[in-house]
Amino acid sequence: MKFKSIVLVFNLILFQVAVLAQPKAKNVIFMIGDGMGINQVYAAMTANGGHLNLEKCTASGYSKTYSANKYITDSAAGGTALATGTKTNNNMLGVAPDSVTKLWSSLYFAKEQGLSTGIVVTVSVTHATPASFYAHQTSRNMRREITQDLLKSDIDVIIGGGLNNFNKKTKVQFEAKNYQIVETEEGLENLRQGKVLALLASKDLPSASKRGEMLPNSVEKAISILSQDTAGFFLMVEGSQIDYQGHARNTTELINEMLDFDKAIGKALDFAEQDGNTLVVITADHETGAFTILDGNFETGEVKGKFNSFYHTGVPVPVFAYGPGSEQFNGWQENTDFRDKILNALNIKL
Ligand code: MG
Ligand code: ZN
Repeated sequence: MKFKSIVLVFNLILFQVAVLAQPKAKNVIFMIGDGMGINQVYAAMTANGGHLNLEKCTASGYSKTYSANKYITDSAAGGTALATGTKTNNNMLGVAPDSVTKLWSSLYFAKEQGLSTGIVVTVSVTHATPASFYAHQTSRNMRREITQDLLKSDIDVIIGGGLNNFNKKTKVQFEAKNYQIVETEEGLENLRQGKVLALLASKDLPSASKRGEMLPNSVEKAISILSQDTAGFFLMVEGSQIDYQGHARNTTELINEMLDFDKAIGKALDFAEQDGNTLVVITADHETGAFTILDGNFETGEVKGKFNSFYHTGVPVPVFAYGPGSEQFNGWQENTDFRDKILNALNIKL
């Protein structure tokens, strides 16, 4: 008996030492490539001469993407799982399959803990993926309600499109909460601090080949504002239109979207490398287009791609991570594992 209890105490001490020794992150940058399968990643890598910024990541794995009611998820259920740690039905945002139970995201708990928060996307800021982190609606199409959820969320830095969803009254509501509203990239560039609502297009931003450096620049700007908070920050970034080019079955534009997302990843990883206290997690909500590579050439950058579907597929998607807590993302995981792994890295206990 006595020996057993000594062993137990010793094990408890060992466990505590192990927990204390685990490095904790001060900041998290969670990056979601909508529709980004491993073949999309490798097509971009091929077009780029064999390398991408995301290769700096030291941990990698797979995520299972099925939703509560479908083998093949949509971005609402996929985003909700990634954000809140619960699988729901397709089309639903931040609510359980029962339609009433509200689900709370990693971003929400980071905010509760006093961290600054941000979202950067290349579609409307009320689109399914970003809305998964702040909205609670039974349909992703309830744009007016989602806009009010965004107002309530009090996210510090909001950058994307969707100006059409913000009428005069809504803008006044945001201004009353001290948001600086800008509608141009120059306007955003000039901001240095404080709360930001940047609505840079009436709906979605243009596709990558016509968008310039909007996404990488916005990620850089969001980081520069959010990192002024000594308590740390949580930033969600979406490569939103990789999915669109999968639906459109356009290999060239798909690669452009991937390279643009990887540029944004480069900005995040550069900051994380310098900072040393930032966890970067990169994954997808699902694959789009059943995209395969039939041939490629690293010298010319040519990729012979083929799409086998007009919609999403059920294949697992890749996961890449860098920084303190990144080792948690090695190997297989459910899309519902991300929330608690991220909160664990931030040392936020629920
Ligand atoms: Mg999306
Ligand atoms: Zn899609």
